[in-house]
Amino acid sequence: MYDNKIKIEFESKSQNEGFARVAIAAFVSQLDPTIEEITDVKTAVSEAVTNSIIHGYENKKDGIVVIEAMLSGNDITIIISDNGKGIKDVSQAREPLFTSRPDLERSGMGFTVMETFMDSLQVESQEGRGTRVVLKKKFDSVS
Ligand code: ATP
Ligand code: MG
Repeated sequence: MYDNKIKIEFESKSQNEGFARVAIAAFVSQLDPTIEEITDVKTAVSEAVTNSIIHGYENKKDGIVVIEAMLSGNDITIIISDNGKGIKDVSQAREPLFTSRPDLERSGMGFTVMETFMDSLQVESQEGRGTRVVLKKKFDSVS
C-alpha cells in the first residue's frame, strides 16, 4: 500500500522535460528532502523522460509519456512509461556507454545515471510495444 500517488501524462515534446522535472520535485517535496535528494530524483526522471521522447518516440510529437509516482513512508517509486518502439536487448541498453544513437551525440550514460542516483532501476520493454522504467529511492528525511 502507499500513502500518496500521482499520475501525469504529457506529449513527447522536449519542452515537457522541464515540466516533468518540476512536477516530480514538487511531489517529493512532501518528504522534506535534502537538495541533493531532490536533484537526484529530478536527474533520474529527466533521463528516463528524455529516453522516451528521443528513443521511444524517435522525436515524433505524437507519443504520450506517463509518469506515476508513489510514496510509502520514506520510499518513493517512480514509473516512467511510453508506448514507443521498445528495446530489443535491455541488458545491452543498460551497459554504460551503450547508445543506439551515436549520430545524435548521445553518450549512452542515461541508465547508468539513473542507477547511480536512485537505489534501484528496473527496465521492462517489448519491441514495438514500449518501455517501462521503475525507479526506487529511500529518503533519509522523516516525513
Ligand atoms: P544518453 O542518455 O547518455 O544521452 P542514450 O540515451 O543513448 O545516451 P541510455 O539512456 O543509457 O543512453 O539508453 C541506452 C539505449 O537504450 C538508448 O541508446 C536506446 O537505444 C535505448 N533506450 C533507452 N530508453 C528507451 C526507450 N524509452 N525506448 C526505446 N529505447 C530506449
Ligand atoms: Mg538516455
